[in-house]
Amino acid sequence: MSDCIFCLIARKEIPAQILLETEEVLAFKDINPVAPRHILLIPKKHISSVMDPQLPTSPQLTAELFSALQQLMADAKDGFRVVINRGEHAGESVPHLHLHLLSGRELAWPPG
Ligand code: AMP
Ligand code: ZN
Repeated sequence: MSDCIFCLIARKEIPAQILLETEEVLAFKDINPVAPRHILLIPKKHISSVMDPQLPTSPQLTAELFSALQQLMADAKDGFRVVINRGEHAGESVPHLHLHLLSGRELAWPPG
């Protein structure tokens, strides 16, 4: 059992503003939003990063992640961005897979 911060949120051991929960995934508001709507979407079990070898062999989890993403962003009519930071150059700070779902303002491209 991992004690990383997102595992603690998934186990409801620390509070978060939860927006959606299924058997395998959880979505909650980012504590330090960089867009008017900034959601984090995570697997409930500890998957260390997008490079974790469990991911490609977890069809239920990947289906639930994309299903949750579609539900959460269905009303983002003006568009949205999905970000996964990986490693030092990308500024990854929490070692538990998380998708950032950003919307509510124009998002610059290319990103900084
Ligand atoms: P990353 O830099 O891609 O690893 O993203 C980690 C994200 O987690 C950042 O956007 C943080 O603001 C967010 N974060 C860290 N701790 C919490 C928390 N307790 N509740 C909600 N979001 C958090
Ligand atoms: Zn974790």
